[in-house]
Amino acid sequence: MSDLFPALHTATGRTALRFGERALTYGQLAQAAGPLAARIGGAPRVALWATPTLETAVGVVAALLAGVPVVPLNPKTGERELAHIVTDSGPAAVLAAPGDELPGALDGLERIDVPVTPVAATGGPASPPPGEPGPLSPALIVYTSGTTGPPKGAVLPRRALAVTLDALEDAWEWTADDVLVHGLPLFHVHGLILGVLGPLRRGGEVRHLGRFSVDGVARELAGGGTMLFGVPTMYHRLAEALDGDEKLRGALAGARLLVSGSAALPLHDHRRIEAATGRRVIERYGMTETLMNTSVRVDGRARPGSVGVPLRGVELRLVAEDGSVLTEYDGESIGEVQVRGENLFTEYLNRPEATAAAFDGDWFRTGDMAVRDEDGSVRIVGRRATDLIKSGGYKIGAGEIENALLEHPGVREAAVTGEPDPDLGERVVAWIVADDDRARPTPEELAAHVAAQLAPHKRPRTVRFLDALPRNDMGKIMKRSLSAS
Ligand code: ATP
Ligand code: MG
Repeated sequence: MSDLFPALHTATGRTALRFGERALTYGQLAQAAGPLAARIGGAPRVALWATPTLETAVGVVAALLAGVPVVPLNPKTGERELAHIVTDSGPAAVLAAPGDELPGALDGLERIDVPVTPVAATGGPASPPPGEPGPLSPALIVYTSGTTGPPKGAVLPRRALAVTLDALEDAWEWTADDVLVHGLPLFHVHGLILGVLGPLRRGGEVRHLGRFSVDGVARELAGGGTMLFGVPTMYHRLAEALDGDEKLRGALAGARLLVSGSAALPLHDHRRIEAATGRRVIERYGMTETLMNTSVRVDGRARPGSVGVPLRGVELRLVAEDGSVLTEYDGESIGEVQVRGENLFTEYLNRPEATAAAFDGDWFRTGDMAVRDEDGSVRIVGRRATDLIKSGGYKIGAGEIENALLEHPGVREAAVTGEPDPDLGERVVAWIVADDDRARPTPEELAAHVAAQLAPHKRPRTVRFLDALPRNDMGKIMKRSLSAS
């Protein structure tokens, strides 16, 4: 079954995966994954204990070879949520690295250790599963990040994987010569589908850091890495470290591609990285349900705050509150992003009502609000549920206020929410982590700073200081918990 990974059979001597000291060539990967695929073939579904290891990568390849839908599990998930995911998705077994301790919530599942030392395939190549998987057979069931509510299992067909990865090849000029430096977790779309399956589909190399570190990024980019995939919190750490770190500066300047996604990259970090390295980070916008929707193209214009243009095969429209489709690209009119194309999931597992509610015909409602600039490129304003504040007759996006606050030297982290207000309807509230707690900027100073940069009605009326913002494993700010506190 080479529909997803032709290189497994053609690039045998090339390095496919490198996790620290351990590496597999394409030939060795095929040898390790083949027998495992034969073993699990025919199972209705398997779970994958998705630690940042070689075993996780081999496990997902084996499941895809076998045509068995795989459910990646976040090892940091609490027992209750894990129990919910296991009950919801009903896997027959869990694939794990030998020696990994599994939590009680997985007790009911057969455990299958993933072999990584290349083993001679017995009895020839893995026997194909009963009935070749077609383009719409489920490849993965990935649970959403749970930023806005309990995670939902998005059923992703094989076709969506192929279409998205090939559209990124087109947008990023991604080839077999690319070596991806990877420091993301392996249980979401970004780290697993783009970060592991992407290079494998191209026949290139994944170099995983195990855990993200600034030194690891500098070392691997300087040592042959060509691309870096990261979330904004990683680029923030790189931006902070750039001052005085010549090795890091040279490594980032020499990379072919620096890509950010999963949440908005603050303008401040984008600009700092560009100023220090001459390189602009490329932003792409996607989600579990749709894989990738837009990206800045290698041959396009990377601008701070822009997530680029719709990828090949993705149709994208903005729908205003009154249901009308925006037809002019004026850079100002806000609408909900809706997309359609072969990159989409098929359904939320066991949630027919949620699936139905998420679609308008064949258009998927992302819940994200955006504007389009004259050249058709998209700027995300934020999520409809948490980032659009209706205050005094204005619609205000939290993101631009956060960006303005982050430009203030006394601010390390910022999140903006709306709270009910008797006069304004909603009031702009800023949650701030101060750069130095002993020298916090005053609320008046922050309000004046925002009013001067944006407009007076966008200034925060309330400022609350925190030691840290609540973030999930992808570094996304959990605004749900902010509003609740
Ligand atoms: P849940 O759906 O469970 O609430 P989630 O939406 O965070 O969680 P994901 O599917 O992992 O789960 O994330 C997709 C969302 O991440 C998008 O809908 C969008 O809000 C945000 N996002 C992704 N990339 C970008 C980007 N480049 N800029 C701004 N936002 C982004
Ligand atoms: Mg979502």
